[in-house]
Amino acid sequence: MPGRHQSLDLLFLGSGNAFGAGGKAFSSFLLNGRYLFDCGPTVLQQLRKAGVPPSDIEVVLVSHFHADHFFGLPFLFLDARYKGRTKDICVVGPPGIQERTETLLRIGYPGVLETEPTFKRRYIEVADGFQANVAGLSVLASVVDHVAEMECFAFRVELGGRSLVYSGDTTLCDGLLRLVKDADVIVLECSREDIPVHLGAAGVEEVARRASPGAQLVVTHLDGNEHSHPLILSLSKDAGLHVAEDLARFSF
Ligand SMILES: [Zn+2]
Ligand SMILES: [Zn+2]
Repeated sequence: MPGRHQSLDLLFLGSGNAFGAGGKAFSSFLLNGRYLFDCGPTVLQQLRKAGVPPSDIEVVLVSHFHADHFFGLPFLFLDARYKGRTKDICVVGPPGIQERTETLLRIGYPGVLETEPTFKRRYIEVADGFQANVAGLSVLASVVDHVAEMECFAFRVELGGRSLVYSGDTTLCDGLLRLVKDADVIVLECSREDIPVHLGAAGVEEVARRASPGAQLVVTHLDGNEHSHPLILSLSKDAGLHVAEDLARFSF
C-alpha cells in the first residue's frame, strides 16, 4: 500500500458458517496479528496451523453470542492459563459479554481459570454508537439486524489511518450500511439467502455498490457454494472482491 499508511493484514482463521460447510473452520480473522474478530471453537487449531502464538492476541472483538462466534473463548483462556500468559487480554462485545464469558469459562473448565491467573481478563461492553480506543485500535460499534433473540454488532475499526468494517452476522440493514462509507476494507458475512437472517450474495452486492470505489471487500461465513454463485463470481471479476478461505492472508 503506497504512502505512509500501514497495511491492514488479515489472517482468516476460519471462513465457514455455523454448520461446518465444506469442512471450513468457524469464521474468524486476525488483524495485524493482534486483534481477533470473533472466536469460534476452532480458534486454537487454526492458530496452530497458521503458526501464530495465541499469546499474540491482545483484543478479541465478539460480534454476537452465537456459538460459532463466541464459544472459542474458553479454549483461548485455557491455553493462556497453562502457557503462563502474562499480558492482559481484552474482550470487546455486546452487553453481557463479561458475565456470559465468565459463565462459559466456569461451565467449560471449572476451577481452572479462577485460581491465581497470571494475566487479567478485561471486558468492554459496547452499545450502538460505542467508540473507544482499545490497545491502539479505534473501535466503533453499530447494532445490526441478525436475529431477534440477541443484540448483534458490526464493527468499524481504524488502525494507522486505515479503516476496516466487519459485518458480524447480519442482514442488509442501516446499522451496517452507515459504517461502510469510505472504509478501506470491508469483511462481510455471505451466508444463506434463503434464511432471512443473513446477508447473502445480494446483500454483499448492495454493500459493494455503496462502498468507495477503491474499497477491498472480503466475503466469509460461507456456505460452500461461493465459487459457483453467479453473483459472487461476477463480483470477484472486479479486483475489489475476495473470497476468504481458511488460513488465507490478505494485505491491503
Ligand atoms: Zn455465524
Ligand atoms: Zn449468528
